[in-house]
Amino acid sequence: MTPSAARRADATQKSSPNCHFNPECDPLFLSYAPGHWPHIPQELWNDWKWQLRNRISTLSQLSEKIQLTDSERNGIFLSGSKLALSITPHFFNLIHPSNPDCPIRRQVIPRAEEGLYLPHEFADPCGEDSHMPVPGLVHRYPDRVLFLVTDRCASYCRYCTRSRIVSGVGEQELHTNFDEAFHYLATHREIRDVLFSGGDPLLLSDEKINDLLRRVREIDHIEFVRIGTRVPIFLPQRITHHLCSILKKYHPLWISIHVNHPRELTSEVKDALSMLADAGIPLGNQSVLLRGVNDSVETMRTLLHKLLRCRVRPYYLYQCDLIRGSSHLRTSVRKGIEIIRALRGFTSGYAIPQFVIDAPGGGGKIPINPDYIISHTDEKILLRNYQGQTFEYPEIPD
Ligand SMILES: *Cc1c(COP(=O)(O)O)cnc(C)c1O
Repeated sequence: MTPSAARRADATQKSSPNCHFNPECDPLFLSYAPGHWPHIPQELWNDWKWQLRNRISTLSQLSEKIQLTDSERNGIFLSGSKLALSITPHFFNLIHPSNPDCPIRRQVIPRAEEGLYLPHEFADPCGEDSHMPVPGLVHRYPDRVLFLVTDRCASYCRYCTRSRIVSGVGEQELHTNFDEAFHYLATHREIRDVLFSGGDPLLLSDEKINDLLRRVREIDHIEFVRIGTRVPIFLPQRITHHLCSILKKYHPLWISIHVNHPRELTSEVKDALSMLADAGIPLGNQSVLLRGVNDSVETMRTLLHKLLRCRVRPYYLYQCDLIRGSSHLRTSVRKGIEIIRALRGFTSGYAIPQFVIDAPGGGGKIPINPDYIISHTDEKILLRNYQGQTFEYPEIPD
């Protein structure tokens, strides 16, 4: 899509046409503020603690602001004992008030289908619990660990792979043992990469974030530290100069964000990502392929191009995990392959994420690629290019 076509596609989905706080904003990166909160002064709107205190988390708050379907009403009753409903005002404004198929809405407003459990679905689809040597630390790969530092997020994604432990209402609780976890990291010299996630690490206080990064940096065999967060998308106000001044003390520090639809890249989000990039933090994006959200080549291309403009390198595109009650959000694997095939060669290589399936039961991430190898013998490899033409490369004897 050309930039002007992308702009039109995004603009037609805009729910609130007044860029109230920022009339000069880039037409490709819209602002939806203050939307449903017209009387909130800008200082309060920009205060991340105000955003958290004023999250939409009940049926009555929701139905005051948007037209709910019966399926959504039922889904909201279910969410009380499964995965909490919570949406920051910033993100809530991106929802189309009357279109139940709105791609933003599908991600954060529960539906009755969440109560539909299929036989191959699990509470812990990637087998994390069985790979925890210490509560809160998942050690699946030889040289790196996933460190779950909180069970809270700014808003809750309905397809959350950790809904069993996240948000405080599910069937399990996360009891991370920080002292034991740091002891494990210090005594396992094979670990060179620590990924802080949760829940969302950037919901912790500046002091706590500083403390975690300082402690991990005291371990000299840990070369590489990263944070997985959706805070820049759900709560861009949290990305303050003070937070950036803490993060930049601990380089090399990388951040993976999570954006699924181009509309999520608002002017506020772009500014927050700019601050992180200016603090020297390389940014990657992880998307989940979701039915009715981003399962089209056009939407995905617009998203990927917007990410590059925000200095974010698309990292992974995940096939949706087999989390219980997520069948309405999953697509076929074939669809993901088709999208990657339509992108590779047709746009910047930097824009193309690796499509992966996180293996059910705990086998780790497995790359899924369109087939570019037609045949491979000791003499030659026969290849197909992005246009479907065939090429031969002689194989070199070992
Ligand atoms: C995704 C993941 C990682 C990081 O994997 P990369 O491919 O290095 O990004 C590490 N540990 C666990 C358990 C994971 O799920």
